[in-house]
Amino acid sequence: MNRKSYDVVIAGAGTTGTTLAYLLAKDGFEVALIDRRYKELIGDKICGDAIAAHHFKSANVPKPSKDVIRMWVEGFKVYPRSIDYYLKIVAEDGGYIVDRHRYGQELLYRAIKEGADLYDGIIANNLIIDDDYAKGIVGYKVGSNDVIKVYGKIIVDATGYPATLLMKTPDKWLIDKRVRSRDIIIAYREIVEVDKPIWDIENLHLHFISRYAPTGYVWIFPWDKDGKKLNFGNGMIPGVSSYKPHELLNMYANEVIPEYLANRRILKKGSWNIPNRRPRYNFVGNGFLAVGDSAIMINPATAEGIGYGLYGAWVASKHIKKALEAGDYSRDALWGYQREYVTSSYGIRQARLDVFKYILQAYSDLDYEFVIKHRILTSSDMIKARDEDSFLSSFDKAVRVIKATLHGKLKIVKDLKYVIDVMRLVKNIYLEYPTSIEGLMPWIRKVENIFSELDKRFPPYKPQYI
Ligand SMILES: Cc1cc2nc3c(=O)[nH]c(=O)nc-3n(C[C@H](O)[C@H](O)[C@H](O)COP(=O)(O)OP(=O)(O)OC[C@H]3O[C@@H](n4cnc5c(N)ncnc54)[C@H](O)[C@@H]3O)c2cc1C
Repeated sequence: MNRKSYDVVIAGAGTTGTTLAYLLAKDGFEVALIDRRYKELIGDKICGDAIAAHHFKSANVPKPSKDVIRMWVEGFKVYPRSIDYYLKIVAEDGGYIVDRHRYGQELLYRAIKEGADLYDGIIANNLIIDDDYAKGIVGYKVGSNDVIKVYGKIIVDATGYPATLLMKTPDKWLIDKRVRSRDIIIAYREIVEVDKPIWDIENLHLHFISRYAPTGYVWIFPWDKDGKKLNFGNGMIPGVSSYKPHELLNMYANEVIPEYLANRRILKKGSWNIPNRRPRYNFVGNGFLAVGDSAIMINPATAEGIGYGLYGAWVASKHIKKALEAGDYSRDALWGYQREYVTSSYGIRQARLDVFKYILQAYSDLDYEFVIKHRILTSSDMIKARDEDSFLSSFDKAVRVIKATLHGKLKIVKDLKYVIDVMRLVKNIYLEYPTSIEGLMPWIRKVENIFSELDKRFPPYKPQYI
């Protein structure tokens, strides 16, 4: 039966919260998992449903079972402007398209089976703070004013984009609460059925086409093996178009590839937001931590966040266990979690790709077309861009400069070079993430200086609708 006091209380039973609950409960810790949704609806998230397979290895968690996998894909194709050109990015070990609702239910049942207690239909809306420590969660039942309090030694915010509890932490904890609109993606997604099968079911398709997804992309993911069900959506930063994402997606379906999409039947649809940047600078406090979307664990170039959240849950579980065993739940004890995530290959990649994101947001699809058609950037560059400092060799660079000069596009190559240099700089700063709160503010200033320069140099591209 449910108790009111636990080792760990987790608000949010998304992919991240359920994974953390599973990792802790299976080692005998007492865990409460709270979600605003009722049990049967947990996992029914608006999502692209795609997860690269390598994340399960990094996060030390089981892969989705056969029952919830809809498709296996090799990687993704990036199309600029027209679908005649593309870069193919093969993912290490491929990737899965899951039935997101059933996968969420699978993760939930795994956590419950290991002993986690579920409090469903409960909206967590505040932290109980006592003696400068988070000691519990105050929530209320959906549709009523009945207040419920659940206490724990460590309180976790895994509520996703709203980061409800993180926003309630005392300001003196110096938790990074601000997310600028440029770092938010407003996204719209449909699950559709079509008459003509999609042209390639072995890859995800990302179409960088400014008119229909300014600063973002339109995605078309196969959702069944005959290519007639699709996960179809788009995303953009707020304020770059007077149209809403769903209006632009409908225009795309009718104007760009009507032979596939104009007569689609919509089985499910909805909108949600994605926090899309480097990780929050500080997401731990006394007896408190955030993980997943609420801590901003995501790939800023593609907005894939499931695998980043799983990895974050694994890192958090190690440090939570250590803190519980030592009986020390202070911010200093939990700092190691944050530092390990930020300086890991995931944290560093996030910071580097947050820099790369600026060039993606600043140029139009005409420019992307030039870059891909003339091999200014190749598939191999894009794969290396995630983790490697010098992803353009000096010989190649010279060739690219000549090509760009001939086409009057030298600015792109110069901007690319600038961005590559800044990616290297940011990586080095992230590797020096402070070992305690004392170093945090000077470190943040260094990072913010870099990103304000990027803001000035790369204003977001806004298409003109005629
Ligand atoms: C349209 C779209 C497409 C995407 N496509 C992909 C993709 O293809 N691949 C990928 O890897 N990522 C994708 N993402 C990102 C991905 O969905 C998220 O990064 C990931 O789901 C984050 O998981 P999470 O558990 O941290 O948060 P969430 O999945 O958002 O889970 C949060 C949970 O907390 C609960 N909750 C929220 N507030 C409260 C509260 N106050 N009290 C109690 N419970 C609460 C919610 O009900 C939910 O169950 C996409 C996102 C969107 C919006």
